[in-house]
Amino acid sequence: MNDLPVTRALFDEFMVPNYAPAAIIPVRGEGSRLWDQEGREYIDFAGGIAVTGLGHAHPQLVAALTEQARKLWHVSNVLVNEPALELARTLCRLTFAERVFFANSGAEANEAALKLARKYAADHFGPDKREIIAFTPSFHGRTLFTVTVGGQAKYTEGFGPLPPAITHVPFNDLAALTAAISERTCAVIVEPILGESGVISAAPEFLQGLRELCTQHQALLIFDEVQTGNGRTGQLYAYMGYGVTPDILTTAKGLGGGFPISAMLTTATIAASLNVGSHGTTYGGNPLGCAVAKAAVDLLSDPALLAGVRHKHERFLAGLRAINERFALFQDLRGQGLLIGCELVAAWHGRSRDFIKAALDEGLLVLVAGPDVIRLAPALIIPDELIQEGLNRFERAIARLCSQSAP
Ligand SMILES: *Cc1c(COP(=O)(O)O)cnc(C)c1O
Repeated sequence: MNDLPVTRALFDEFMVPNYAPAAIIPVRGEGSRLWDQEGREYIDFAGGIAVTGLGHAHPQLVAALTEQARKLWHVSNVLVNEPALELARTLCRLTFAERVFFANSGAEANEAALKLARKYAADHFGPDKREIIAFTPSFHGRTLFTVTVGGQAKYTEGFGPLPPAITHVPFNDLAALTAAISERTCAVIVEPILGESGVISAAPEFLQGLRELCTQHQALLIFDEVQTGNGRTGQLYAYMGYGVTPDILTTAKGLGGGFPISAMLTTATIAASLNVGSHGTTYGGNPLGCAVAKAAVDLLSDPALLAGVRHKHERFLAGLRAINERFALFQDLRGQGLLIGCELVAAWHGRSRDFIKAALDEGLLVLVAGPDVIRLAPALIIPDELIQEGLNRFERAIARLCSQSAP
């Protein structure tokens, strides 16, 4: 039985069809490169969807994981463990936070943040303050609560009834929020840069306005930094670049460099509402995850690494502009740090996925952010030579796609 070949066909045979993975199966990674079952090499501009900020098989993460694996894997939250305590202390030292809750995914960190906001309001202001305001478009995860807060019909259709008291207003539209927020609002949740929804940065005045309105209406400001956190923007967390401090921050994707772990950060006063027994998860703060994340955060908080991210952003943009001079394919090149969006010109709208396939054929992994935007989220330590080689492959993919099937 174990000698049977493992092929892509098994996905369709044995797995729930909620994904549509590519035809190749990667089996090994090192730094910013992957190899598939056939030994073919790929340059990774996707980073496992903005997760593997330190690349694949980073020696210090492998060491942290294997060292911890020999000692202790799991004890549950009936007991605390050393890696969790060390990681919590590190995150508090590096951010505005005074208290940390660990979970396993971005959706779970947001679920905790939203539940905490409701509970805090119930504790301090009574039962009528329960409305959550979120923005369109946005993405906060796939649990029923977070997917409802995300507010995208294509992700909630068929899953109702949905949780109530959630309001949506347009992103980057401060007037709309001013009109919507009231004493019934318990929280406003926002992505500092829309990740899944097109790599669109919040305007600094927008986030400043949010901060002021939340303070004025005694609503908690939640920054969903699941995608923008852990060095992705060239700041350890994007809020630091904006100079706007939230009441609750969620982080996941880059936190464990590929090991599943997430965290919700907040102040001691707000945290007090998650009293004993009010919330929890079996694996949250697991020693393996926390040991890896501690090693990752130690590396990602290095000012030299963060400066490198900002420098590599410029390299990417220069290369992409040069490609665009030849093909006039992008109407906008944007993003912060190594979260980069290439918005296709109108004639190519709806076709971003075609570029994933074309890039793969040239030995390059890229992402999309919606139907009109190609998204790049490589490792934050990708060497300059691999940026250049990856861009060369991207250019070949574009040349082929344009010659074969220009609109
Ligand atoms: C990916 C993402 C999530 C969901 O994270 P999961 O780990 O998939 O649950 C939530 N918010 C943002 C901004 C994300 O990019």
